[in-house]
Amino acid sequence: MGSNMNDMKSLQETNLDEEGDQEFELEDVDDGDEEEEVEEYVTLGLVEKPKNPKFLLRHLFPSKAGGVPAWLDPVDLPQEKSRICGFCGEPLQFLLQIYAPISEESSTFHRILYVFMCPSMSCLLRDQHEQWKRREDNPCRSVKVFRCQLPRCNPFYSSEPPKRDGIDKPLTVGAALCSWCGTWKGEKVCSSCRRARYCSEKHQALHWKSGHRNHCRQIVNYSETSSSSPDSSSNRLPAVGKVACSTLWPEYEIIIEDECAFDTEAFEDYNCATSLVPKNMKTDDSYQFMLDKFEADENKRTWASFQERIAKCPKQVLRYCRDPKAKPLWPLSIGCPSVANIPKCNYCNGPICYEFQIMPQLLFYFGVRNDPDSLDWGTIAVYTCSASCGSSISYKEEFAWVQLYPTAPMT
Ligand SMILES: [Zn+2]
Ligand SMILES: [Zn+2]
Ligand SMILES: [Zn+2]
Ligand SMILES: [Zn+2]
Repeated sequence: MGSNMNDMKSLQETNLDEEGDQEFELEDVDDGDEEEEVEEYVTLGLVEKPKNPKFLLRHLFPSKAGGVPAWLDPVDLPQEKSRICGFCGEPLQFLLQIYAPISEESSTFHRILYVFMCPSMSCLLRDQHEQWKRREDNPCRSVKVFRCQLPRCNPFYSSEPPKRDGIDKPLTVGAALCSWCGTWKGEKVCSSCRRARYCSEKHQALHWKSGHRNHCRQIVNYSETSSSSPDSSSNRLPAVGKVACSTLWPEYEIIIEDECAFDTEAFEDYNCATSLVPKNMKTDDSYQFMLDKFEADENKRTWASFQERIAKCPKQVLRYCRDPKAKPLWPLSIGCPSVANIPKCNYCNGPICYEFQIMPQLLFYFGVRNDPDSLDWGTIAVYTCSASCGSSISYKEEFAWVQLYPTAPMT
């Protein structure tokens, strides 16, 4: 024993490898003007087509975007009411997950954060208004974050690091998932074939229309004949249980890089300083009240420093820094949360802190169109329990703050 699982690529571990146990000593390379911004140590996430989709399975503790989630606890999955969009009621779609263990605690030996969202932009616009509400008022959300953690010794995985040889397996099978989305627990069973499973009636209806109507009859016919002739080969049974839905976002592996690795010439090439305002930036009534509160210059300055920072590595889809001093890199100065807007942990009532943010570049890799009603955001900042507290609930809901670019008014 004593092996450190150090072949697992985790965000947290990259941190530790680089920094050892010491506090981050900041080499301040600021030109020393206006803000005393602390250049904290940020890890970037980039996406790559998976070399082998098997490497994204749950027993390899992947960080991944798109496709279906790799559930760390494969049994006690999120309940029905926490997995639907608060506005349209559709099951949420998997956006990404990051493997981010906290090595100081044994309970967080494995730790994965999951982000889901409704692909509807009109739901996200409504979500904007809800995120300002206090958590006690039970705001509806179209973006949800779950935290799941396990100690090294747990019922689901070997305590030894996976070999990644294509042979290693999880110790348990896990709950049956929805035959349509492959994402959520399939609690409902098709009443005719009793094989297909669904997370929701909506997904059952979609599957039925897209071909299960015929499949289902074949399965039923097959099981009727096979009960009279038990010799028939079972491989004639049409496959159920595969993900039938074709609208999931494309699957990527998330690759980890240190931001400081990009602190080089690339910086000199950067010449976006002229585009101080995003292309789709226009003001409208729903944002006017916020704009009025700020000097326009303030916004431009925030946008310029945002551009400058991401220009070091324009492909980044994620920025990670679990440090109490860390703050999200906001594209705009409007629509940022104040301290009072950040709720307490739902479970321990302790403070929550910023942990990572998702950049709009991910939408480009997902092939989301650039239409006015297509999904878009400035950034999604995720805040998690500072203590990463434990409780009997496997998937604990954490907090997301979505900053949108001012665009079309709500309809
Ligand atoms: Zn929705
Ligand atoms: Zn489903
Ligand atoms: Zn059926
Ligand atoms: Zn907590």
